[in-house]
Amino acid sequence: MARLAQTAGLTEIQQEILSTVKTFVDKEIIPHATALEHADTYPQDIVDGMKEMGLFGLTIPEEFGGLGESLLTYALVVEQIARGWMSVSGVINTHFIVAHMITHHGTDEQKQKYLPQMALGETRGSFSMSEPDLGSDVAAIKTKAVQDGDDFVIDGAKMWLTNGGTSTLTAVLVKTDEGAEKPYQNLTCFLVEKPVGYGEVAPGLIVPGKIDKMGYKGVDTTEMVFKGHRVPADRILGGKRGGGFAQMMDGVEVGRVNVAARACGISIRAFELAVEYAQQRSTFGKPIAQHQAIAFKLAEMATKVEAAHLMMVNAARLKDSGERFDVESGMAKLIASEYCAEVTQESFRIHGGYGYSKEYEIERLMREAPFLLIGEGTSEIQKTIISRGLLKEYKLR
Ligand SMILES: Cc1cc2nc3c(=O)[nH]c(=O)nc-3n(C[C@H](O)[C@H](O)[C@H](O)COP(=O)(O)OP(=O)(O)OC[C@H]3O[C@@H](n4cnc5c(N)ncnc54)[C@H](O)[C@@H]3O)c2cc1C
Repeated sequence: MARLAQTAGLTEIQQEILSTVKTFVDKEIIPHATALEHADTYPQDIVDGMKEMGLFGLTIPEEFGGLGESLLTYALVVEQIARGWMSVSGVINTHFIVAHMITHHGTDEQKQKYLPQMALGETRGSFSMSEPDLGSDVAAIKTKAVQDGDDFVIDGAKMWLTNGGTSTLTAVLVKTDEGAEKPYQNLTCFLVEKPVGYGEVAPGLIVPGKIDKMGYKGVDTTEMVFKGHRVPADRILGGKRGGGFAQMMDGVEVGRVNVAARACGISIRAFELAVEYAQQRSTFGKPIAQHQAIAFKLAEMATKVEAAHLMMVNAARLKDSGERFDVESGMAKLIASEYCAEVTQESFRIHGGYGYSKEYEIERLMREAPFLLIGEGTSEIQKTIISRGLLKEYKLR
């Protein structure tokens, strides 16, 4: 992309990382993405390539073997990867969130135990809040952990775990009944170790098969059923009960910037495909790009790509500078995902009938974009977060 979605003020290291990732995306992801996606095949070679580049340790502190890069670097890498294929960014996203939670909330022992292996991509993270009966209403979690000697015994069912089958460390939010008045203060986050695979992967821990989805294929999304699964007490994130909700929300907040970045990546690709096609396809004696109706579509799409990118970068930079960024990450996620749905739709229309053919990449992007309206909180939930934050800030005195 020559002109759109540029980011001013990047360091030389950031530029180098992005250029390496962009080359990888152009050579190793884009040419294979559609075939792998249509076959719903896990992109093992691509994942191995990302491991070699150190992407699983991109934001993990250097003292634990990672590259210690910022949220901005991570988000720009994700934008590039999603431009190639969103599912690949899904493989690293839950890993990134769990690494973030351990780095910022884990005990020293937990950091020493997990982060070096996570930086290498040998231990791979997934995170689990949602259940069959709830997604937005996290405080209503029913899955329960009850202490029994040095262990906790977990019972219940979790839903929608991205990387549920391929990960080996799942951060699971469950109810521990601390006797607190507010329901969210009765939740605790456990670091559950498990092998890769499906079925009863450990005593009382079942990962049924992959959920068959509209898009976002290749990457596994699963349920996770706990039937008396025992977890040692030292697997409580941070070692203290009752703080799980805040820890998870911190993870989800950086995850929102990540989802915004994915939406930017898909939008950039949808624009690239549209601008190319519009100059190749002729009707009524001239390329369709020369019909004002199509040229204006391109102008609007590019403006949305640019606006979403700038808001995503702004949110990441705020977080990196240590500022509060709940409102800005919600805004970035909201606008980037809504614009992504609109930009892919317009690119699809520009493709005419061919956009409906599986031979054209836009068909895949059209099925990927809707997920971004839902993941890490729906648009309605983002608006709730944004308006709550603003009403606090602008409270009448
Ligand atoms: C492919 C995929 C991967 C996922 N990966 C993960 C994962 O890795 N880990 C994980 O924990 N979860 C994951 N999820 C779950 C995801 O976070 C939830 O689906 C999402 O939070 C929405 O929850 P829900 O589906 O229960 O919808 P609901 O909460 O039931 O919402 C249904 C509708 O009601 C609206 N709504 C709900 N409450 C309100 C309100 N108060 N005001 C206004 N409108 C409201 C919603 O916006 C939505 O339109 C994944 C989901 C999908 C589809």
